[in-house]
Amino acid sequence: MRTVYLDHAATTPPLAEVAEAMRPFLAEKFGNPSALYALGRESRAAVEEARKKVASLMGASADEIYFTSGGSESDNMALLGTLLANEEKGNHLVTTEIEHHAVLETAHFLAAHGYESTFVGVDSDGVVNPDDVRKAIRPSTVLVSVMHANNEVGTIEPVREIADICREAGVYFHADAVQTVGNITVDVGELGADLLSMSGHKLYGPKGIGAIYIKNGTRVHRLIHGGEQEKGMRAGTENIAGIVGLGVAAEVAKGELGEKVARVTALRDRLLDGIRSSIEDVLLNGHPTIRLPNNAHFGIRFVEGEAICLQLDTVGICASTGSACSSETLEPSHVLLAMGVGPLEAHGSVRFSLGRGTTEEEIDYVLEKFPPIVERLRSMSPLARKGRNR
Ligand SMILES: *Cc1c(COP(=O)(O)O)cnc(C)c1O
Repeated sequence: MRTVYLDHAATTPPLAEVAEAMRPFLAEKFGNPSALYALGRESRAAVEEARKKVASLMGASADEIYFTSGGSESDNMALLGTLLANEEKGNHLVTTEIEHHAVLETAHFLAAHGYESTFVGVDSDGVVNPDDVRKAIRPSTVLVSVMHANNEVGTIEPVREIADICREAGVYFHADAVQTVGNITVDVGELGADLLSMSGHKLYGPKGIGAIYIKNGTRVHRLIHGGEQEKGMRAGTENIAGIVGLGVAAEVAKGELGEKVARVTALRDRLLDGIRSSIEDVLLNGHPTIRLPNNAHFGIRFVEGEAICLQLDTVGICASTGSACSSETLEPSHVLLAMGVGPLEAHGSVRFSLGRGTTEEEIDYVLEKFPPIVERLRSMSPLARKGRNR
């Protein structure tokens, strides 16, 4: 059976050129980059080459990029590292209710260990109001962390305005840009971020590798103690193959960005229009226009998102019910709850996230298979019968 992969917000297929570039570093090019002989120097050169490519993708300079094990570690480092390094300034963090768990759980951890965390809400489109951030900042605030775009509903946040508020208040600003780096233009200067997280496997690179941008002059404590790798900011012998793969993924993303955004947006809109015209009682979650080009997140009333995704799987379509993380708990997603989406819509949520390889023919396949699945599930659902007879 064919596979139509529409879950790129969860992870992306590594590019062939990524795997190709990594292969020698998993085999004969195994030198430790800290070593002085040629084999080590070759690894060092590969790491620094990749650092330049990642920096170039986001308009940073190479010495502001630190490799980590992925988006989660970058988020942990941004929050914990910045709060730990600035204790004389204060102990307060401002973030939002719709962050990825890597930020949310770290904020809760800080709050349980003598720090304070404030969670700002969002409107029904999932947009953070910069004024709410301004009001949440106190004299003891060290850091504000707001994601660039939400991984579930795709809403792009007004991070530039929030960064300006932070600069005025003398507070550091971190953006979780895991969903945007490589997907839309991300320039750390334009965004005004002091810290920014990104992840390899969300931009067609390998899993288990990511990076954090830390603007020169920002005070951040390391989390991993030991050797002096990453300028003393993260101990441990480097994941050379992963770093090389991330570099290649960044280089390709930079080259194709403009063209990719236009193509993916058109396909996403074809999917949106097709679904809205063939299925009743369906809502688009997230901001109608200020959203990731590849994200289509629906609330389908009177059906369960899990049931839809399992049915889609039987015809080879990979989609997710809102968020890969919340599908294990069966709790309505914290993002939808924060947006005030009712339980009926929240439980029937399905996210399609398109990618660079998505074709028109694949979208048409979804438009052929998806409406009958919803129709069939609704015909079996007591909720649907009640809802419609009302
Ligand atoms: C995927 C994701 C992360 C976590 O990245 P990993 O590399 O999987 O640890 C963090 N934040 C957002 C917004 C994400 O989408």
